[in-house]
Amino acid sequence: MRDEEALDKRRQAGKIAGLARDYGKKLVKPGVPLLDVAEKIEEFILDHGVGIGFPAQISRNVIAAHYCPCPGDETVFEKGDLVKVDVGTEIDGYIADTATTVNLGEHDKLLRASREALNNAIKIVKPGVTIGEIGKVVGETIGALGFKPIRNLSGHGVGQYKVHIGPSIPNFDTGGTTTLHDGQVIAIEPFASTGAGLVSDLPDCEIFMQEAKKPVRNIITRALLKEIEKYNGLPFTTRWLVKKFPLGKVQYALRDLHTQGIINNYPPLADRGGGMVSQAEHTIIVGEKPEVVTKTDVE
Ligand code: MN
Ligand code: MN
Repeated sequence: MRDEEALDKRRQAGKIAGLARDYGKKLVKPGVPLLDVAEKIEEFILDHGVGIGFPAQISRNVIAAHYCPCPGDETVFEKGDLVKVDVGTEIDGYIADTATTVNLGEHDKLLRASREALNNAIKIVKPGVTIGEIGKVVGETIGALGFKPIRNLSGHGVGQYKVHIGPSIPNFDTGGTTTLHDGQVIAIEPFASTGAGLVSDLPDCEIFMQEAKKPVRNIITRALLKEIEKYNGLPFTTRWLVKKFPLGKVQYALRDLHTQGIINNYPPLADRGGGMVSQAEHTIIVGEKPEVVTKTDVE
């Protein structure tokens, strides 16, 4: 059964996510700080009357995902960069998740690989299709252009107050037999790499998510946790917390909360072979005709 009211919220969230992605894409230029682009994207989302689904992620070159500028981050885009802009919005927790890649160098074919993989995958989305079939189309499209799909990153179901829910939608043929059903909301996100096609964690995590509710003793940690609970289990970043608390206290509390198993860390993910990475992502409502809720005239 379709929950039309929830799907309408998803369509509205998707429309703004798509526009925020396109807006962010235009801001990416050599010399511009990543921090400025992340903050402008988040402002754009709030100005359009919806919530932020997760902190704007802006990952360069070998970093495939989860780079989020830290407070005072002075990193700027450089000529030659390949930049992934990944944006999330939410209405009453119903999330839309979308990403694109900006080419500041000579990466046309690599960029095309993830985009074509996404387009080809969307063409076969309908009730009854298996996740293995989608993975096969993604993997083969990327492989045909001479690149590797990233095998340990995948698309996913998109939930309410949960960015990632089942099923995992692979970027290669896993033979997975889980089928999609009408009204299901999924994100498909092919990553194409010139390197290993596998990612590993980098240090310096800036993205966190509350995983458990527990009382805490320490007064600093408790104050931070009170703020974090306002995110309703959605991902958040250090940059947001330093608007309300000194950086030292934020860092202390984040470590404490992680040790206690109350929050989880989502560090940047980089290609293990040092390859360049492109990504394309849309949120889709599964139906006889798939509805791409993050689609705009641009992407
Ligand atoms: Mn995403
Ligand atoms: Mn996603």
